[in-house]
Amino acid sequence: MEKSELQKLTDNKSERIACELSKGKSAVWTHFAHVAVDGTAVPFVKCVKCSSVLQWKSRDGTSGLHSHVEYCKSRAPQRKITSLSGFASVIQTPKLPSSVKSDVANVMVRWCAKDIRFLKSLHYLTYLTFLNISSRLS
Ligand SMILES: [Zn+2]
Repeated sequence: MEKSELQKLTDNKSERIACELSKGKSAVWTHFAHVAVDGTAVPFVKCVKCSSVLQWKSRDGTSGLHSHVEYCKSRAPQRKITSLSGFASVIQTPKLPSSVKSDVANVMVRWCAKDIRFLKSLHYLTYLTFLNISSRLS
C-alpha cells in the first residue's frame, strides 16, 4: 500500500486501520504507533501527535523517527510572525488623532525610560506595535 493511501485512510479514521503501540525499547516509541491495515501489519508507523504516517521497517532503526519527533515539536501551533513588514500589514492601526498617537508614544517612551526591564518582560508583539507606532510618528 502506498503511503499516501494509508495517510488518507488514517486521516479518515478508516475502520480498516488499526494502530498498536510499539513495544520498542526506545523512548521514541511513545510518539509512534504501528499501523495495520485489514488486520495485517504494514511497514508504516503513525505519529501519535500529528497523525502523520511514516514508512518504517525495523531494520531502519529509530533515527528517522527521532527526526520526525524533532520536526513535530518545532512546528508551533500558532502562526509565526517572521518579519516586521508582515506584522505591520496584519495589524491595522486605527485612525487616531495624531495627538492621541503621540500621547501613546510618550507614555511608552516614559515607561521604557523608567524601567528598562519593560522591554524584556513585555510580550514581543506589543514591542513590535510600539516600534510600528514610533515609525509612523517620526
Ligand atoms: Zn508528528
